[in-house]
Amino acid sequence: MSQTEDWREERQRCLHRARLVVVKVGSAVLSDADGLSDTVMADLARQLATLRGSDGARKVVLVSSGAVAAGRRALARHGRSCDTQGLAARQAAAALGQGQLMRLWDKVLRPYGIPVAQVLLTRDDLRARTRFLNARNTFAELLSWDALPVVNENDTVSVRELKFGDNDCLASLLVNLVGADLYINLTSAPGVYASNPDTDADAQILSCIDDVSRLDLGRLCGGKTSVGTGGMYSKLLAARRASQLGVPTLILPGRQENIIGRALAGEDVGTWVRPAEHAISRRKFWLAYQSDPAGTLWVDEGAADALLEKGSSLLPGGVRRVDGTFQKGALVRVARLGCDGPQASLGVGLTNYAAGELRKIMGLRRHEVAAILGDAHYPEVIHRDNLLLDAAI
Ligand code: GLU
Repeated sequence: MSQTEDWREERQRCLHRARLVVVKVGSAVLSDADGLSDTVMADLARQLATLRGSDGARKVVLVSSGAVAAGRRALARHGRSCDTQGLAARQAAAALGQGQLMRLWDKVLRPYGIPVAQVLLTRDDLRARTRFLNARNTFAELLSWDALPVVNENDTVSVRELKFGDNDCLASLLVNLVGADLYINLTSAPGVYASNPDTDADAQILSCIDDVSRLDLGRLCGGKTSVGTGGMYSKLLAARRASQLGVPTLILPGRQENIIGRALAGEDVGTWVRPAEHAISRRKFWLAYQSDPAGTLWVDEGAADALLEKGSSLLPGGVRRVDGTFQKGALVRVARLGCDGPQASLGVGLTNYAAGELRKIMGLRRHEVAAILGDAHYPEVIHRDNLLLDAAI
């Protein structure tokens, strides 16, 4: 993608040429005080059918939240109210609601002859490379049958360390898994505001974000929506990940009628997040986002410069401090010593050393490491092929 192309042209070209689209819809779009809204879902079904095209040339994967909201409503119908703040209660509510969510999607998509397929995932399913590839094959098969995969997190069995965090994050991982070329995020907001609307009454919608990696997300996103778990912060984080893969994101107000159709027709709606000019490989994306970092390696200025400016690997000599307990092969964060907050973070990578071993060899030169570990040791703590700088975490 060329950043010199006018973004409106780019947007229209991408919208019309996209062959595989991940569409994510949040709970706040799908539900109201009475639970899931038939009307909203029926309108979305019509839009999804239009997006797929009459010849089915465009494939769509739908990531749908709403299980917890539907479960809450189902309990209320039986005269019981529940507090779904706690993890166990949310998981139980999702078990009640997931079936209802799928039944409704099936009902509203049936008139368009679209078979729906339920796919429930935990983060652990995508962490092991073989399971990741198995899931990829299943999606490919479903799409070849012209089915619409409707994906949600498998909330009932997801514990904290297995959770994606939110469906925005899950959707961004799916963009990689299925090889999508467009990501549409349907949200309850009109788009991304240029300043925090909670504190700035005149906040304007950004029609286009040129370089999402340069945005100060903390400043932009003070608030969260009350129904879902995401908020704009996680939408932009997900858009940033998609952008790294060379995939643009369109953040749209999902409650507005025929919003996808209006975007396809060229109307200036929502926020277009441009893809990065230099995409990272799908393998690097997978290794960086498959799990949360298990620890942090603090590196000195010299090592930070070598990583950032020369594209070097991280060597034991540059590591000054090791936080956390992790095994060889774990995903760890790399941060610049002497720097605080998010700006300290340089990226993430797979470590060749367990935390304990690393503490013994940090700051040492190669021959000093060899004196401790013998000759058959890895020269790099993190090889540059296993390192993603500027990771969206
Ligand atoms: N999986 C949750 C649900 O279906 C929603 C998570 C989210 O909104 O990010 O209710």
